[in-house]
Amino acid sequence: MGLYFQILASGSKGNAILVCSEKTRLLVDAGLSGKEIVTRLGKTPVNGRQLNALLVSHEHQDHIRGVGVLSRRFDLPVYATPGTLEGFPPTEARMAQVHLFQAGSSFSIGDLHIQAFSISHDARDPVAFVIQNGGKRLGVCTDLGVATHLVRTRLQNCHGLIIEANHDTELLLNGPYPPHLKQRIRSRHGHLSNNDTCELLQTLFHEDLKAVAFAHLSEINNHPNLVKSMYRQFAASPLWEQVRFRIGMQHEVSEGVELT
Ligand SMILES: [Zn+2]
Ligand SMILES: [Zn+2]
Repeated sequence: MGLYFQILASGSKGNAILVCSEKTRLLVDAGLSGKEIVTRLGKTPVNGRQLNALLVSHEHQDHIRGVGVLSRRFDLPVYATPGTLEGFPPTEARMAQVHLFQAGSSFSIGDLHIQAFSISHDARDPVAFVIQNGGKRLGVCTDLGVATHLVRTRLQNCHGLIIEANHDTELLLNGPYPPHLKQRIRSRHGHLSNNDTCELLQTLFHEDLKAVAFAHLSEINNHPNLVKSMYRQFAASPLWEQVRFRIGMQHEVSEGVELT
């Protein structure tokens, strides 16, 4: 196994991404119930007892719902920024072990090397990650209102990218959300639109990019078919033929991708 990833769930009702090397297996976020995550792991090569750690991007419920339960049940260390940990509700802050890291720092979990970097989102100290093993780099970047210079720099030269494609701007503007929520989603501290993501991806393309997964799609303000058609348009060039493409879904486990 090289660097392997599989999206267990993605969207505003819960997020969890399995990332594995030969020796180390972790979840980036655990935002479904512990029980549901264990069930969904049944559709992956890894079970709960084989996990080594939980890595948390920020304290919103859709990213942490199962963190405490899984940590205690499988004796898993939880890696989070101090701000993220402070944001945990007291009822969910009991964990087997906690390892704090600073946004902007690098650290290792087993043979996975993690670079954490700040993103613009309405949480206390939110981060995205580049996870490396064996010369392969996987960028995991969801829940951001704007792709800053820092984000664009950190995500360069990744072999795999998991990137938010939250909403179609027209659907959002004409949809049922109240104005303040529309405003929050569109703000610099909200979520990336399909167009934002498309523009970002085009700047991140390089010849060793092998996989792109779109994540955190809104069930109300987006549709997998819209994301697929967006992708087909800009990936029509032969340059993109080598890139495998996935969509992280809310209610089903996506097909895994191995970066070799
Ligand atoms: Zn989220
Ligand atoms: Zn969030």
